[in-house]
Amino acid sequence: MRLRIRLVRQPPSPAARVAGQAAIRAHALARGAGINRPMFHRIVPSDLALLFEAYDARFFDGAMREALDGPTGGALTFDVSRRMIRSGGMTRREERRGPSGVERRFSIGVSATLLGGTFRGEARAINVCGVRCEDRLDALLRIFEHELIHLCEFLVWQASNCRGRPFARFVHGFFGHTEATHELVTPHERARQALGVGVGSRVRFRAGRRVHEGVVNRITRRATVLVPDPGGRRYSDGQCYAKYYVPIEALEPVE
Ligand SMILES: [Zn+2]
Repeated sequence: MRLRIRLVRQPPSPAARVAGQAAIRAHALARGAGINRPMFHRIVPSDLALLFEAYDARFFDGAMREALDGPTGGALTFDVSRRMIRSGGMTRREERRGPSGVERRFSIGVSATLLGGTFRGEARAINVCGVRCEDRLDALLRIFEHELIHLCEFLVWQASNCRGRPFARFVHGFFGHTEATHELVTPHERARQALGVGVGSRVRFRAGRRVHEGVVNRITRRATVLVPDPGGRRYSDGQCYAKYYVPIEALEPVE
């Protein structure tokens, strides 16, 4: 398969890689729907489709699309997720028995929550995949590159593992990555750093016209706050609480 040969034997030269990454960044700024500025506020699935086409043309000479259309390929979809609060990106391969034999589907998702929650004036540097990122578009491109190597491995070997040595070699050869992790700001970190709020903190927040006070029980995309309420559910400490899901920005720490 042409994609396998490309992946294993034909990584770009370092100069061609840097030029290719710069060209794709410029392409995203010129043609992106949501990602047409370095500090974009939203991404749409068509932005990811645009990036896929650009990377396939520039780095793989169309071999990814060819493999998707071939016997081990299938449909590829893109997803912008607000629920992903740990992983920056996610690539999936699904196999299903359909009326016309085995059907395969691939999807690449990226976390809008992590990207949108980062580059808000953090004191620390933000590295994604071991590469220093200056803005959200940089971070998105590094995440997307990592996911593309997952897709390549899935297409060639039907399995993929970013902790494996082959993956590390491909992602370094094609995109210069030295790590498989990101340092984007998670909702937990944002709550702790910006507000000094964590699980167990007392907080105040407004819901409609009323101001409530309670204790943070959990932090995902939003914080779960338990507010003492005689009409609420009884918890293991014997008290009754009403449960509120509050955006992290709306919390105010109580001394
Ligand atoms: Zn991975």
